[in-house]
Amino acid sequence: MKIFKFFLCALLLTSFSTYAQDDEKAERQQGHTNENKFKQLYEEFSTPNVFRTGSGAPGPGYYQQQADYKMDIEIDDDNAKLHGDETITYTNNSPDDLNYLWVQLDQNMRARDSKTPLISSSGISPATVSSRAVKSYLKESFDGGFNIEHVKDVSGKDLPHTINRTMMRVELPKVLKSGEKFSFQIKWWYNINDHVKDGGRSGYEYFEENDNRIYVMAQFYPRMAVYNDVEGWQNSQFWGRDEFALPFGNFDVNITVPADHILDGTGYLVNREDVFTKDMMKRFNKAKKSYDEPVMIVTQAEAEITEKSKSKKKKTWKLSAQMVRDFGFATSRKFLWDMMAVKLGEKDVMAVSLYSKEGNPLWEQWSTKSVASTLRTYSRMTFDYPYHKAISVHAPMGMEYPMICYNFGRPDKDGNYSDRTKYGMISVIIHEVGHNWFPMIVNSDERQWTWMDEGLNTFSQYIAEQDFAEWYPAALSPSDKAYPSRRGPAKNIVRYMGGNQDFIAPIMTKGLNTYQFGNNAYGKPATALNILRETIMGHDLFDYSFKEYANRWKFKHPTPEDFFRTMEDASAVDLDWFWRGWFYTTDYTDIGIKEVKRFAVTGTPNDNGKRLAEQYNRDPSSLVYFIEEGAEGYDDAIKSAGTIDNLPTVKEYIMDNFSPKEQKEFKTAPQYFYEVTFEKPGGLVMPIIVEFTYADGTKKRETYPVQIWRLNDKQVSKAIASDKEIISIALDPDLETADVDTTNNAWPKEVKDSDFDKFKSKVRD
Ligand SMILES: [Zn+2]
Repeated sequence: MKIFKFFLCALLLTSFSTYAQDDEKAERQQGHTNENKFKQLYEEFSTPNVFRTGSGAPGPGYYQQQADYKMDIEIDDDNAKLHGDETITYTNNSPDDLNYLWVQLDQNMRARDSKTPLISSSGISPATVSSRAVKSYLKESFDGGFNIEHVKDVSGKDLPHTINRTMMRVELPKVLKSGEKFSFQIKWWYNINDHVKDGGRSGYEYFEENDNRIYVMAQFYPRMAVYNDVEGWQNSQFWGRDEFALPFGNFDVNITVPADHILDGTGYLVNREDVFTKDMMKRFNKAKKSYDEPVMIVTQAEAEITEKSKSKKKKTWKLSAQMVRDFGFATSRKFLWDMMAVKLGEKDVMAVSLYSKEGNPLWEQWSTKSVASTLRTYSRMTFDYPYHKAISVHAPMGMEYPMICYNFGRPDKDGNYSDRTKYGMISVIIHEVGHNWFPMIVNSDERQWTWMDEGLNTFSQYIAEQDFAEWYPAALSPSDKAYPSRRGPAKNIVRYMGGNQDFIAPIMTKGLNTYQFGNNAYGKPATALNILRETIMGHDLFDYSFKEYANRWKFKHPTPEDFFRTMEDASAVDLDWFWRGWFYTTDYTDIGIKEVKRFAVTGTPNDNGKRLAEQYNRDPSSLVYFIEEGAEGYDDAIKSAGTIDNLPTVKEYIMDNFSPKEQKEFKTAPQYFYEVTFEKPGGLVMPIIVEFTYADGTKKRETYPVQIWRLNDKQVSKAIASDKEIISIALDPDLETADVDTTNNAWPKEVKDSDFDKFKSKVRD
């Protein structure tokens, strides 16, 4: 009897799948491609070493450099010029000797001799708006870029330096050995750009009414490049798109502006008593205890008076910041200012907004609350926000710096705004405040890997947006049940991933060289992480691992492998196939149902059954047979049972072959047998999520892990034994895998109106 049982299994497997032999052949042929999709990422990853371990954590030899800045900055508001005198103290924590230092001169991207305009393909349009023609052909380009007045050591001696476009190499008087510090001083000035007309991530916006400017300043000082174990000096040129790689350090910055300006920026305001009025001090103290509503520090009425005249006096604002990778500030006499307190663990953090009257009524309602909400969500997902404040500044862009960011969202002149403007503003504030974590604190190299900050941040933004709607439901429009997030849900990336492959690059591509930047560096990685969380790993494993990554690398410099490795190390989920498919290729998901066969179970063999019994040298009456619908004997089997629902179960056929003790182990009695073949026209391997609907109306979900594709990349089959009749099967019913073609996701095939039919019915209407 034991032998018989074994035989039955073998027979079940072979006879059940008429494709069995073809499958094996196919597996042999396709072996090489399948192996690739599940092959571990040893060739793509750098070898773990003393700096970075195989677990994805910093190793025992991990080091990072430090750059401390003392700066005196002055804005010449009449001429829109910025002057700076800075002293950089550079600490060499690496084990290496350094002969020179590299300093980033990002403003040179706007210099007249910049090569940035030369790398974009351009053509002549037969019809061009005259203002564009003026800008393109009649005007000299903006005269931007750093004017370096001198580079000296602390004793005042000139240091030899070489400027190669946006990078400056400073020669050291003697080798800077491991553990040593070197201080030097740079004096500079530049013409500030109008970021609305000329573009850019910083500059001023000009308001003709009262002849005023709002300055949002960044990349405004020569900044140290990163030196580390991965790149040596990260001195890849700034072309304008790829953002920044910066070491951590401490900043003491004195900023002199017209006395009627309101200013805020990275760091503690050291001389608050000097620059605040008594009223502002009172309101500030009130704001520190206001946890629900922002308190106005400068009101709209006050700002509207201030912007009508211009003070000839000057004021210096002193800011001091520890362990930040960059410094930004915003200043204008147009600013309103509000703040509220946010409790994070034991600590209070201030959520702050700076905006002009042009931002209202939207900004006074939602800016500071968006900041507060972001601080809560991101702290929960990663680690508590370590700084004392987070500022959102109203400017027509979206850009981030430590503790301060610049965000769009402006109502029209009458104060009306669309849903799109409102949600756009809340989303950009959440996004840019979120950048405090990625990359300002979890300090990845933006110049090289855009997705490491934008992708992780856009993923977290999605969660923060959903939280925001829960905490501030009044912000939602009546027709919205949840926050209408643009990026995150799997179905939103389908159009991009299923699009023209000529214009898609893998996520693991330097930002400068990618097509469809937003989809590539923001949308797709954010969606990939969302799919990992929702579908592949589940919330518990994902959230634990994501938090582990953030905590391992806060105030440090992670690489992509550090992220990939940590996510696996902390979860015990092998994700190499996922990183490989989603991050290293442009493959997309398309899984479908190729065929569903239905079988009747019977004791009477057809010719095929008899042939198999003979082949295995068995008595035909000792076997149980599965006859496919439509095959010889199927109708007879149904007829002898009366109806399909009266077919005996497989159990009834084989009971006699087993002892009563053995029979006790038979717990199920399936009556309906199906063989479902799944096809995979898409290149990505993904789990198969199946929903069975039964004749009694009930449903059941089954997920076949991705490894089902490991031996056959094109198609796989599953034998389904059921005690209820299956009437339909749906794949990925909640659209969670970014399947680009859902027309093959249902059995029986859903008959949908063709576009032509819809067109016809429209014409008839
Ligand atoms: Zn961003």
